Amino acid sequence: MADDAQAINPFETAKRQVDIVADLLKLDNGNREILKHPKRELTVNFPVRMDDGQYRVYTGYRVQYNMARGPTKGGIRYHPGVTLDEVRALSAWMTWKCAVVNLPYGGAKGGIICDPKHMSKGELERLTRRYASEIAPIIGPEMDIPAPDVYTDSQTMAWIMDTYSMQRGYSVPGVVTGKPISLGGSEGRGEATGRGCAYVIREAAAHAGVKVHGGSVAVQGFGNAGSVAANILHDEQHAKIIAVSDSKGGILNPEGFNPHAVEEHKKKTGSVVGFPGSKPVTNEEILETKCDILVPAALENQITKRNADNIQARIVAEAANGPTLPDADKTLYEKGITVLPDILANAGGVTVSYFEWAQDIQGYFWDLEDVNRRLEKVMTQSYAQVHKTALEYKVHNRTAAYVLAIQRVVDAIKIRGIYP
Ligand code: NAD
Repeated sequence: MADDAQAINPFETAKRQVDIVADLLKLDNGNREILKHPKRELTVNFPVRMDDGQYRVYTGYRVQYNMARGPTKGGIRYHPGVTLDEVRALSAWMTWKCAVVNLPYGGAKGGIICDPKHMSKGELERLTRRYASEIAPIIGPEMDIPAPDVYTDSQTMAWIMDTYSMQRGYSVPGVVTGKPISLGGSEGRGEATGRGCAYVIREAAAHAGVKVHGGSVAVQGFGNAGSVAANILHDEQHAKIIAVSDSKGGILNPEGFNPHAVEEHKKKTGSVVGFPGSKPVTNEEILETKCDILVPAALENQITKRNADNIQARIVAEAANGPTLPDADKTLYEKGITVLPDILANAGGVTVSYFEWAQDIQGYFWDLEDVNRRLEKVMTQSYAQVHKTALEYKVHNRTAAYVLAIQRVVDAIKIRGIYP
């Protein structure tokens, strides 16, 4: 993490973002206060039997930030650094992300303070099932629908779905998304984030006068989101992928390389580093590579006020959550770089999660072509709405995305009225 990113309480950041947009929208104090408070927070402390026969008590959270627009949606994170304020912030950001792509959802997030890298599969299963049982009173297809996040995956979702279903006495696939296909998961979910990001890049490039066909692309973080974005930009939009990286380092070839071959190399060797015909670059250098499109797809806080001035891309598409710090954002804007903010650029994942839930509820499943066609429509329309909002309010895309999202949430609050 960059020095200037340390000691920032994420929930304070989330509330500050609300204030900025509330000023722009001239919101009254009542609505402003509603938007700065999570609706419901559950803390659970629960014992888990470890492999050595001892019991350990774990703490978990589930925060449902705002449900004015529909049931809440958001991932569950397993990490030693989970805090209630982090979960609150993430649940707020999920609220805005769902609203910016106009899904009929509010936002939520969950987490357990634990160290999954040092737990056996059996311990993780018992942890997951007990946590699922503890939060069961407040989740469900009509109420709050969890999904995978950091160090949770489709297996975790399968355990939650099973635990919840056992308590109900019948199968409830729509209680979580990100499930294996055999349990009611959706076609296309695995690549949805990268694919959605590539669609948004295509739309933004057309507005910014940047050619994707033959244009150069650098991707920091060649994981799920980053590698899929690179593959689609290469295969479908004919861009040149000139630089990619992972936690072990990066590679560069100004002539471009085939991202599928890089993926194969990474599968075989564990890293993109050493790919034939490439020159090694560091993760810092990759951000400053001369290219048309930069896709930060690794960690948060990568573009800071120290390197923002050195960014040479014309478009920065945030596949990762929170890769750009606020000071850096200002610099990028002043340099005339088009930033596609995370809540828009990586919303393809939650969009196909929404499709998964819709398919589960209908008990009728779509093919991959259908899923991708609908995803393309959502991402294209959402980009157009963010762009229009940016022009209307004379703000950059990040603020525009927040304005659009928060306006939608406020509209729902107002038209519903305050109970009783
Ligand atoms: P992943 O674990 O599949 O990939 C992350 C990649 O980043 C890996 O290749 C890893 O080696 C690399 N990495 C780690 N540390 C790095 C460093 N210091 N420098 C450069 N690369 C580094 O994860 P993912 O699912 O692709 O998620 C990546 C980002 O996208 C995260 O911020 C995540 O929150 C966000 N995101 C993902 C999804 C999704 O559906 N996968 C949805 C929304 C947002």
